[in-house]
Amino acid sequence: MSEDFEIAIKVVIVGNGAVGKSSMIQRYCKGIFTKDYKKTIGVDFLEREMEFDGEEIRLMLWDTAGQEEFDAITKTYYRGAQACVLAFSTTDRQSFEAIEIWKRKVENEVGEIPMVLVQNKIDLVDQAQVTGIEVEDIAGKLNIKFYKTSVKENFNIDAVFEYLTERYFLDL
Ligand code: GDP
Repeated sequence: MSEDFEIAIKVVIVGNGAVGKSSMIQRYCKGIFTKDYKKTIGVDFLEREMEFDGEEIRLMLWDTAGQEEFDAITKTYYRGAQACVLAFSTTDRQSFEAIEIWKRKVENEVGEIPMVLVQNKIDLVDQAQVTGIEVEDIAGKLNIKFYKTSVKENFNIDAVFEYLTERYFLDL
């Protein structure tokens, strides 16, 4: 019997505007970081192949394409999502405070799926608007693993997606 089918996982990356979601997708899928990256309306997702447990996995990372208003995000965006990154920025307190709302929003749309909490722009920690304790508290309360990342410095980005993939298979 042929075993050459491929596993594809749809990952949605949610969070307030400007926390670095598009940059994260670009970084992970294309290996680039640009300061003035403009979202391309019409491009739904970028993808990258990775190997997990000897299997070829294709991660499809979906960009909200600037539709950060909760109700502006189309059903198509969430449909069939199998894993989720909840992202906020070290330098934006509002984005941190919105995390629980984003989590509920995703769960309302697709039910419980593997999630990871990401505190991006850790390279700007000297401009932090949220303390380490606060992040640990919310991660504990929501029972969700968290990573500090810097898309700019390519810190922990691969780790986030490796963790999500692992979680995806554990939950099957
Ligand atoms: P989105 O609206 O969440 O998709 O955010 P973008 O990806 O458009 O990023 C918003 C801005 O933050 C852009 O100018 C990015 O270059 C910048 N940015 C993204 N990630 C980082 C990071 O880790 N560190 C720093 N210093 N800037 C970042």
